Amino acid sequence: MPDTRRDPRYDILFEPVRIGPKVAKNRFFQVPHCNGGGYRDPSAVAEMRRTKAEGGWGVIFTEQTEIHHSSEITPFIEQRLWDDRDIPALARMADAMKSHGALAGIQMAYSGINGPNFYTREVPLAVSPGPILTFTPDPVQARAMDREDIRDLRRWFANAFRRARAAGFDIVCLYGAHGFGILQHFLSRATNRRTDEYGGSLANRGRFIRELVEDCREAVKGELAISLRLSLHEPGPEGLSNAELRDFVAMHADLPDLWDFAQGSWHACSGTSRFSDEGAQEDLVRGMKALTPRPVVGVGRFTSPDAMVRQIREGILDLVGAARPSIADPFLPRKIEEGRIEDIRECIGCNICVSGDKTGALSRCTQNTAFMEEWRKGWHPERARPKGPTGRVLVVGAGPAGLEAALQLGRRGYQVTLAEAGRVLGGRVAAERTLPGLAAWGRVADYRTGQIAPMPNVEVYRESRLSAEDVLAMGFPQVAVATGARWRADTVARFHLSPVPQEGIPVFTPDDLMAGQGPEGGSVILYDDDHFYMGSVLAELLVARGCRVDFVTPSAMVAEWSDNTLEQGLIQARLLERGVTLHLSHAPVAFGPGGARLACTYTGRERDLSGEAVVMVTSRLPASPLWDELRARRAEWAAVGIAAVRAIGDAEAPGPIAWATYAGRRYAEEMDAGPAGDALPFRREIAELL
Ligand code: ADP
Ligand code: SF4
Repeated sequence: MPDTRRDPRYDILFEPVRIGPKVAKNRFFQVPHCNGGGYRDPSAVAEMRRTKAEGGWGVIFTEQTEIHHSSEITPFIEQRLWDDRDIPALARMADAMKSHGALAGIQMAYSGINGPNFYTREVPLAVSPGPILTFTPDPVQARAMDREDIRDLRRWFANAFRRARAAGFDIVCLYGAHGFGILQHFLSRATNRRTDEYGGSLANRGRFIRELVEDCREAVKGELAISLRLSLHEPGPEGLSNAELRDFVAMHADLPDLWDFAQGSWHACSGTSRFSDEGAQEDLVRGMKALTPRPVVGVGRFTSPDAMVRQIREGILDLVGAARPSIADPFLPRKIEEGRIEDIRECIGCNICVSGDKTGALSRCTQNTAFMEEWRKGWHPERARPKGPTGRVLVVGAGPAGLEAALQLGRRGYQVTLAEAGRVLGGRVAAERTLPGLAAWGRVADYRTGQIAPMPNVEVYRESRLSAEDVLAMGFPQVAVATGARWRADTVARFHLSPVPQEGIPVFTPDDLMAGQGPEGGSVILYDDDHFYMGSVLAELLVARGCRVDFVTPSAMVAEWSDNTLEQGLIQARLLERGVTLHLSHAPVAFGPGGARLACTYTGRERDLSGEAVVMVTSRLPASPLWDELRARRAEWAAVGIAAVRAIGDAEAPGPIAWATYAGRRYAEEMDAGPAGDALPFRREIAELL
């Protein structure tokens, strides 16, 4: 039954779409995405996918699934379908995906030239020989497959197809996008140097894909739909261009049941909001539909239903692909269906989720604090558990931690008072959203303030800086101190654990710059020992203010950690384009009138750098005088009715925004739970002993 609250403009999003032998109930298509859990955390991943089913997605995919042990991408943790023993975990996932009428898809990958095989120790097999192409220059090379190897590979895929059918999947996606997946390696001149019938012409380079699709149809007896996921534009002079891909699609118009197009590299496809807009691949995918009778899906960090509708009405896409928007809000389709557009928790495009995969950890989401905690901790992206015995809670500070705590406590039914020193809610995101490229980060505050506003049990007091005296006088039984952190004005961080001399030169912090202070011109030395986004963002800001910027970092590259958010190369390129001078592998020995003395971090060789001012992007200190004072007066708590005071988020230990929202959620979830003792605070699965 269509929901009557739905805006009729969005009806088109809820039309069913035929995909070969299957029918998707609507056009919401969760494309494959990694999550850092994979084969190591099967139930955690399955439960995460279940929330998407519940949230109304028409098609839900696994992350990439390695089809054979001869190609694996350790240290990245994805899915495996190496033998029959992998079927039950994937069956659990398929089951969860189908729990609300979605189609369950499995993405199959054979990594070829991308798989170093660190775990299985097999010699990597590739279309053409050469060094393994991953994010790290692994000292491993692949050998070329001969015809017999290709026959073996087809059989291994066929085994995987049969296993996928046994596991209960509806759609098989053959992965050849982002530079990953042997399908792309066959198609692309860059990775296919063969001179046999699998190399040379486009028809020859496409031969393996044709054979594989035929093998798949046979293996699954035509019962499962087949999707081809290909790159829209492979970077590099020999990469598979958009024009060549169009030729391929025209030549094989009805080969798969669905075409799934993903922009060139993973970095381009999963661009952050700092570097790419919603719907960024539109020009590359426009016109594809005219080449094929099969439905087309594409991505674009779509969070706006109007943007989705437009791409469908204009004949660009049939299905709206989404990974990150589905992570940030698994209930995105249902909220559109129910006419609750303002409740959509929009992805901010920060790629913290990607960093979970890149670091081999379980992924987090800045916006959806329940992501990957659905099974481990029983958290849900929309629902809160019933309240405990405490009546009233005081949350001090309305940054990401305080706002999330207040929202989740409010949902649980507590009487919440949120006191914020400033006039604007949002804490650090209220400031950071004004920086170049970070406007979308404001959604962290907007979503939460929007959700809290109509809650009768959450009262918000702005311009209410509380002292310890105030908190004691108010007598709330539970108090969360979410007062955040401030940037240090010295060099103490990772390289220097003690400050270096810094007399006779003006020194500014990121907080100063965000408050509108700091240099408006002249030459500025920016010292970055933080290595994430802040240093480069402030360099951009200073350039925009008319400053000449010398960027000094002990690292061999700019913003080193942002490699985990797929931004490092883009950041370094942007600074170079903006005329910022880079002083890599250098750290200050001292700052003084007229500049700094730097030392090479490898040789210790020293040199002078002139500058009129310094901006330190080093580390942060919890801004917790309130917490310190309340702790010092612990003996007075009981008399005024306080049972517990906790510091949360940056006030406890500074970290990225996602750490703060998580801390807020955790506080709200665990308040009233009683002491956890020494027990593990989450569920986990342990490898089976043989
Ligand atoms: P987090 O990332 O942990 O949420 P933020 O720094 O973003 O931390 O936010 C902290 C918020 O707390 C800021 O908005 C700040 O104005 C507010 N704050 C700091 N001290 C007090 C205080 N004593 N009383 C009320 N609000 C405070
Ligand atoms: Fe979006 Fe950031 Fe969440 Fe990833 S972590 S889904 S980019 S909000």
